[in-house]
Amino acid sequence: MQALPGRCFACQRTFPQAAMAEHLLACRPQHDGQPLWLFHIQDNDFPDTFWLFVEIAPTAPLAALDEALRQVWVDCCGHYSQFVIGGETYARRPTPDPVALVLDEHAARRTMDVPLAQVFTVGAAAAYAYDEVWPTELRVRLLAEYAGHPLAEGGFRVAARNYKPPRTCRLCARPAAWLYTDTWPLEPYCDQHARQHPAWGQDDAFLPYVNSPRVGLCTYRGPADEALRFEVEPPGP
Ligand SMILES: [Zn+2]
Ligand SMILES: [Zn+2]
Ligand SMILES: [Zn+2]
Repeated sequence: MQALPGRCFACQRTFPQAAMAEHLLACRPQHDGQPLWLFHIQDNDFPDTFWLFVEIAPTAPLAALDEALRQVWVDCCGHYSQFVIGGETYARRPTPDPVALVLDEHAARRTMDVPLAQVFTVGAAAAYAYDEVWPTELRVRLLAEYAGHPLAEGGFRVAARNYKPPRTCRLCARPAAWLYTDTWPLEPYCDQHARQHPAWGQDDAFLPYVNSPRVGLCTYRGPADEALRFEVEPPGP
């Protein structure tokens, strides 16, 4: 997968990932505002392709950061998720059942109902995983603290993220709109060729080709909140 630039959502400018980290520290802070933390998140397998910068208050619980990652990037059907920070595992099950909770207790997992400020310091990193069966694994790092535009309680803001990785249909030159999931590697199809495929219409045989490290996995179809969708290809040179 290719190294992709991304967009800063404050000024709408385009930068490569490393330059974006520097840019945000100049572009985001305000003279007044609330204390905010800037997290840098990357896909573990394709860190140059899928990356994200998110603002969140240090007083927010760890569960709020989990919620941000779910809403923007990974949530398909409410699977288990976890952060490993400094050797401790913090787990969340949106729909817990008694057996799972006992297993978590035996595995010495903690809850995510702890303030971010209690588990992170600037520069600290965490490993994140969503879904135990088909996991999506992310790297999370607390990049900086600054004063910025106030957020609603427990809220978050996407400061910047990668453009959509361009892919073409396996049968023509049109952009991929779907992935055929009943094969490996997954096969990209344009809308027209997907609809002509014999498996079109079968449950989850085709999943939308969306801008997320979870693309094509389980039943992932992109963010439920339309405002969190970003399906824009990188601008031309
Ligand atoms: Zn900017
Ligand atoms: Zn799922
Ligand atoms: Zn096609």
